[in-house]
Amino acid sequence: MMKKHLGSFISLKVLKENYRSIIDEYKIDTLHIHLPYYIDDQNPYYADKTLIPKSITYDEYKENVKFVRELKDYGFKIYIAYPVFVSHEGINERSELLARTLFGKVYSFRVCPTNKKIIERIIGDIRTIIDIYDIDGIILDYIRFESPMAGFENFFMCFCDNCLKEMERKGFNPKRIVSDVSKFIDLLHTEDFVKSFINNKGLAVVDILEIYDNYPGLFEWFRFKKEHIEEIVKMLTRIMKNDGGRNFIVGANLLSPWWSLIAGQSYSSFSRIVDIIEPMLYADWMQWEGLTAVKEFSSISGLSRDLLTNFYFVILGLAYFSGLKSFDEVRLSSLGVESINYSMNKINIWNVGGAKIWPVLMVNPLDFIHKFLNERLSNKSTMNKEFLLESVRILKENNADGLVFFMFDRGDKEALKEAAKVWFE
Ligand SMILES: [Zn+2]
Repeated sequence: MMKKHLGSFISLKVLKENYRSIIDEYKIDTLHIHLPYYIDDQNPYYADKTLIPKSITYDEYKENVKFVRELKDYGFKIYIAYPVFVSHEGINERSELLARTLFGKVYSFRVCPTNKKIIERIIGDIRTIIDIYDIDGIILDYIRFESPMAGFENFFMCFCDNCLKEMERKGFNPKRIVSDVSKFIDLLHTEDFVKSFINNKGLAVVDILEIYDNYPGLFEWFRFKKEHIEEIVKMLTRIMKNDGGRNFIVGANLLSPWWSLIAGQSYSSFSRIVDIIEPMLYADWMQWEGLTAVKEFSSISGLSRDLLTNFYFVILGLAYFSGLKSFDEVRLSSLGVESINYSMNKINIWNVGGAKIWPVLMVNPLDFIHKFLNERLSNKSTMNKEFLLESVRILKENNADGLVFFMFDRGDKEALKEAAKVWFE
């Protein structure tokens, strides 16, 4: 049997305190870390010098190289988590590089995913990391379009001139996309339309065909997002395998199956390209992901938050196993562990390329004010040790190849030890 792996996102600070215990006591063999850039005058990767990331000093860099060596010598595999389409420092002021919504607004938390300069910067970052650190792989994070958690308007990105041209280049009709997506948003304002799905307890084939018939551009938009992300993943993977060597591992974090395609991430596409897929199976975020869009659209449309929350639970399929919940119930709870099982069933079917599946589990109680939602989110009523252990059992039953904790620093340490025991027993 193949060796099972246990990974975790973990900070350098915690590793520096006592990395030996991470393997010895917690059995974690694969680290997901961030390492700072060191950029010297010889770095050839950034055509636009204004986009070069901030560099640490040479001495700090040498320290990091030494520390990475030490970790590897102790037996760890080192993967760098690299956030792809986020607004890195130095970019968030430059509106020409940022995403633009369907409504013409600049959205400063995300970059334009088709912008040449942005893509050059991403490639530069990745090649630099591979050059300067002796690592085993890179896990692509945020390699997607926006999710509804950023708000209703921000979800509809990117519609800048460059993206419209890119749609055309890929064989889509940008005019039809803009017009149909806009018309569909108008339709969403209709209470009867929204209610019909809740009353019918789901989306029937006839509903989907009817929407496709009237708004083909809506489907083209999702298709465009999926194809673009697929193209970028292919291109970055080729570069990483070329620079890092054939054994260099390429992985990607994907939104849970309920949300992935909405943001342009196709499990089947990714499974044909990358070595490891890391589905973020967070039982809380799986149900929270639509809340900001609901709150914002409720104030635009006058439809109630509860109605709109029910709507996304039904059309996404969450209602099948969790029933309907109000806006506040969603915000202050999480899905049950069965959501992990349902997710893995889908992922195993979608894994046509035979990628390794390493689900990521949330390991700590959360209770905070979300910056986009501007309301409290809490998983405290459900997130406990039993929940974590049961999730691990379900992943084992579903033949997951690896398991990743998000994230070690904040997890209940006794629960993590027991989870490792369940995972390896
Ligand atoms: Zn764009």
